[in-house]
Amino acid sequence: MLNINLCFAQIDGTLTDRLEKSLIIEYFPTYDEISLNSIDQRILEVKSNNTLLGYIFSTWDMVKSLGYDRQPYEIMVGLNTNGTLAGATLTYHNEPLFIHDISEEDLEEFVKNSKGLDVSKGLPRATYNQPLRADTVHRGTISSNLMHESLFKSARSAIISTNLYGVKNGNRLNYLKEEKLNWQELIEKGYIITQRTLLKEAKEKFSNLGLPDKIINLPNLKELPTSEKIFLDIAIGLNNPRAIGQNILGEWRHDKIMSTFDAKDYVIVIAGNGYSYKGSDWRRTKIFERIRIIQDNNIITFKATDHTRILKINSLNAPIYKEISLFRISTDKNFDPIKPWYLEVIYFNKENSSEKIIIPYILSDKLIIKPEKELAIWVNVWLESKFRILILSIALLILSLITIFQEKISKYRKIFRYIRISYLSFTLIWIGWYTGAQLSIFNILSLVRIPITGADLNYFLIDPLIFIILAFTIISTLILGRGLFCGWLCPFGALQELIGWIAKNLGIKKKEIPEKYYSKLWTIKYFILVSIIGISFISMETASTIAEVEPFKTAIMRHFNRGLPYVSYAVILLSLSVFMERGFCRFICPLGGSLAVIGKLRITDHLKRRKECGSPCNICSNSCPVKAIPSQGINKGKMIMSECFRCLDCQLEYVDTKRCPPLVKIQKLRLKEA
Ligand code: SF4
Ligand code: SF4
Repeated sequence: MLNINLCFAQIDGTLTDRLEKSLIIEYFPTYDEISLNSIDQRILEVKSNNTLLGYIFSTWDMVKSLGYDRQPYEIMVGLNTNGTLAGATLTYHNEPLFIHDISEEDLEEFVKNSKGLDVSKGLPRATYNQPLRADTVHRGTISSNLMHESLFKSARSAIISTNLYGVKNGNRLNYLKEEKLNWQELIEKGYIITQRTLLKEAKEKFSNLGLPDKIINLPNLKELPTSEKIFLDIAIGLNNPRAIGQNILGEWRHDKIMSTFDAKDYVIVIAGNGYSYKGSDWRRTKIFERIRIIQDNNIITFKATDHTRILKINSLNAPIYKEISLFRISTDKNFDPIKPWYLEVIYFNKENSSEKIIIPYILSDKLIIKPEKELAIWVNVWLESKFRILILSIALLILSLITIFQEKISKYRKIFRYIRISYLSFTLIWIGWYTGAQLSIFNILSLVRIPITGADLNYFLIDPLIFIILAFTIISTLILGRGLFCGWLCPFGALQELIGWIAKNLGIKKKEIPEKYYSKLWTIKYFILVSIIGISFISMETASTIAEVEPFKTAIMRHFNRGLPYVSYAVILLSLSVFMERGFCRFICPLGGSLAVIGKLRITDHLKRRKECGSPCNICSNSCPVKAIPSQGINKGKMIMSECFRCLDCQLEYVDTKRCPPLVKIQKLRLKEA
């Protein structure tokens, strides 16, 4: 709350206070007038010669745009009346990450490139040929995606507030769908509604009106008893959709007749036998008094000019109707074809008293196009990244199998070495350098700061690879300790280890710090960790400066393409790896420190030990590259799991019948017995 309030103080004042005139000129060069929208004061209307050019609004006003680490930012958006962006400018942000990772220019450029984007169609689903983002900010996936989403959300909100497209964004009539249907199918699908009123019912209903028998003139039904004779047999439907109209009028005639109406007119078809819904007075009065349409409180009546007589219904097996008509409903009648309506057929007697028969009509769902549900941006990103997700999932599955079957695999020292070097190379090249999915202390900070910033799953899901690796890391750390991430999935860790491996193969000897200093040196990373977390509650900017202790952005995300101090620092740390195994990981890395803390809760460690480990045997201790098994002191021979990287070197010794002394002894005994 404190954080958000501070930001409120910085995105302050009304839209007109904050909006620079130069931006209005940039978006709408010909403008001569601006005014706040009368319904939504968050939106500025921009006009030229009294003609609306478009709107300007701020993402902060519209959707409270929050970026990396839930920090507010503001983009001033210009929206053309055709739904494209007239421009977008990042006018405020407070994202510490930008200071070190993404340059402000990158972000500004990214936002500016949104110009021309058609936001009226909703957030597009990414395809291979049409990527989600017009441009992407180098390694600023989370921030750029959040900004992209806020542009769409706020534009959509502005479109709804200003009713820029009316029903365009709601349900729409499917005019074009074509279906060849017989009469029975038209009825079954609800495209045509039929209703029959028997003479007996009509007489009861209209008893006070003195219904004459002579109106019954249905063909072939004259001989029926009165109780089965029909007073009115009527069929109604909306004629505009081809799926109905072409079956009523015939394919070719439908398009021809419909083209005689205004494009925005709606047309209904009425066909009837029995009581004449048209009567004969309309020829004189030019008004159809016996029928009207009711929709909500809207009463629509018809004039002679709205009427078109039809001779025959084209659809197969359609009954013969005495009267068939099309009635035009002009746009000024405010008829909505999607909403239910009903036809009233009014019966008048000689005294002009009236009763009515009601025929309700609800347009079939099959003829309504519903707006596509907008996908949350993270869904788009996950769809866009499906192949990367697949590759990562396979890699994590392989790592899980290695862990489950570690004892078996450890028996094959050479093969295991190849597997490990290959996996680390994959982690460095594909996970790190190619996809940039390097976890950092910021990912842990985001979790720690949830009580302050609030939990927004959308934010965590927006970078799928980071999300998957983070979830895998947290779960695996809670089960086994930090080792699975640090030992296998951290690209910078992999880079150090690979450098060390190459150096070793080149014959360069390692120079280890005396063991007695380890316990003190190990604590450095915890000091750094506590400082970053503590200071982040006071100033994210300072915390992010301290977090620069992680060289990940330089060495992994930005491929050493950064300022000289950053590159020199990363190179020094990597040079250390030539002489000392993972020096940065063991003593400095705050992310490693945080995982070591989480790892204290681990359920198991899944690494095998013997009672001889540490005393008298010290082979594992010597072979542990990161010295997580002390060879002296009170912890002699014990695994310090918060320092273990699950390299499995000790496990190779554990199963080695030629090196592990207890196994050698057993082996010798067996040989003797043999
Ligand atoms: S300690 Fe840090 S750098 Fe080393 S592997 Fe773990 S997270 Fe990566
Ligand atoms: S040798 Fe054993 S204790 Fe040392 S880091 Fe590797 S797995 Fe952990």
